[in-house]
Amino acid sequence: MPKTYFNYIGGKWGKAKNAGTFEDRNPADTRDLIGTFPQSGPEDVEAAYRVAESAYDAWRLTPPPMRGEIILKAGLLLKKRKEELAQVMTREMGKVLKESRGDVQEAVDMAYYAAGEGRRLLGHTTTSELKNKFAMSMRMPIGVCGLITPWNFPVAIPSWKIFPALICGNTVVFKPAEDTPLCASLFVEIMEEAGLPGGVLNMVHGGPQAGRAVVRHPKIRLISFTGSSEVGAEVAEYCGRALKRCSLEMGGKNAQVVMADADFDLALEGALWGAFGTTGQRCTATSRIYVEKKIFERFRKALVRGARAIRIGNGLKPGVQMGPLVNQDQLRRVQGYVRAGIEEGAKLECGGRIAKKSGLERGWFHEPTIFAKTHPDMKIMREEIFGPVTCLVPVRSLEEAIHQVNNTSYGLSSSLYSRDVNRAMRAIRDIEAGITYINGPTIGAEVHLPFGGVKKTGNGHREAGETALDIFSEWKSVFIDYSGRLQKAQIDVD
Ligand code: NAD
Repeated sequence: MPKTYFNYIGGKWGKAKNAGTFEDRNPADTRDLIGTFPQSGPEDVEAAYRVAESAYDAWRLTPPPMRGEIILKAGLLLKKRKEELAQVMTREMGKVLKESRGDVQEAVDMAYYAAGEGRRLLGHTTTSELKNKFAMSMRMPIGVCGLITPWNFPVAIPSWKIFPALICGNTVVFKPAEDTPLCASLFVEIMEEAGLPGGVLNMVHGGPQAGRAVVRHPKIRLISFTGSSEVGAEVAEYCGRALKRCSLEMGGKNAQVVMADADFDLALEGALWGAFGTTGQRCTATSRIYVEKKIFERFRKALVRGARAIRIGNGLKPGVQMGPLVNQDQLRRVQGYVRAGIEEGAKLECGGRIAKKSGLERGWFHEPTIFAKTHPDMKIMREEIFGPVTCLVPVRSLEEAIHQVNNTSYGLSSSLYSRDVNRAMRAIRDIEAGITYINGPTIGAEVHLPFGGVKKTGNGHREAGETALDIFSEWKSVFIDYSGRLQKAQIDVD
């Protein structure tokens, strides 16, 4: 019997108020029903908000090193249960087991990093323009935060939001993705086991209705959202009007550049991993590859050969290199882009079809797909596909490549393969993106560096690293006057 799972509000597991549910199925074999989960609405969000609000003062006043200790324990538990979580993740959203393990490891890393911040959360002490006056700045928590996450990193992305939010002293209403609710439930279970007091972290399952209720709750002070640019724009619009703090991490149209002087095999390996890892369902996936003309033909042939050799299947099986897409809508979306590419005149070099091999009939599998002879105005060159589809483009020079890389409305990740340090430095300086890799693929972030992008990818915030603290805390400037008299800044200075 598939299990029934619950929301987590005020330290208790329970149904949605309207008792509605939704199903969670394995995208590699849709006969495999993983469980049913509550379809939450505004009344559940309201209940979660109320307990988060009442837990806020006690949590805010808990010394940060003690908050950090709980997060550290959660990190150790995540590490201990890494294999179990990875198995659930692959079953729930399809990526191959090795990648699922990496996803859990990222959450472990984030726990260790955030726990350490419990003994830092540094502000500044500084000088004053007046005598006998002391000045400093310090971080303050914000209040109840609403965190909304996607399914492609179902443990890592929640950890990127929940740990920094908690270490800063906030309480949380968490709305995970409806395609990966079990990963989210296990994450919350681990937080409970680590000793997090009831009410500090609350989870409401469900889809857009629940997400919208979190965004529109008048007293939830901050929204941290990761997902598509379309939904992000709606979130930003609402938050803008309500003057609510809002951080957005959205789509990408990431590019890899390969110069003729590059290590050819390394660049090829990077392109295959960047384009087809996680079945292309990464915000940092490589969806455009610009190759210097001199080596274009050789690179094209090798990339097509590599893509054709990728073993597709259930990510739990040893030897499988690429799992299914997460759901039927994603499969339709990818197929729609393949059709658009062909209709607009691009050349399909390989793939392009729903994968039909025996054993794949019950899942949402798609072949690794490469287009060439594209034009920058084509849909496949402009829009985020979020599937195993990439476009190959010849370029004459680094300057032309950088111009093309920047010719997009997104700006998350980018990569250059070259052995020439001068070219590398120019790419680092001139590519408009939040992340640039030299001699590495467009994927591979680490938790202690800022993560996010420019243009339509984000709204100026950066997750991870110390910059995550700027999302989840407010700055306060403090002045202590010990002169015993009224001193007037800017006036008593002569
Ligand atoms: P999505 O925008 O459909 O959903 C993201 C989350 O928002 C889900 O929890 C969903 O239930 C919720 N949601 C949907 N509609 C909502 C609404 N109107 N109001 C509030 N919440 C709503 O995205 P997805 O399909 O889950 O994820 C894929 C997208 O996420 C891609 O565009 C990808 O690039 C992006 N992504 C970005 C990053 C990053 O850090 N930049 C990381 C991972 C994924």
